[in-house]
Amino acid sequence: MPTQSDNKTEPTPICGKCGAPLQKAGYIDDHISIGKIWGYGSQFDGETHNFDVCAACYSEWIESFLNNPREQTAEDFR
Ligand SMILES: [Zn+2]
Repeated sequence: MPTQSDNKTEPTPICGKCGAPLQKAGYIDDHISIGKIWGYGSQFDGETHNFDVCAACYSEWIESFLNNPREQTAEDFR
């Protein structure tokens, strides 16, 4: 019985936080992709996490950082 997963085309990438499609009119919006295999004994004990985050959600996210990466970048490229 065919299911949607039988479709051979790549799934449209979406933002893991807000669900916005990252692909628009044939190109993929710049975004960050995170892949992490958590070690055994860590808080996530061996779990694998893979997700994409759109630029808008990334912007919101880093605003919550004590050390904002944007400020670090300005220093690094001086
Ligand atoms: Zn988003």
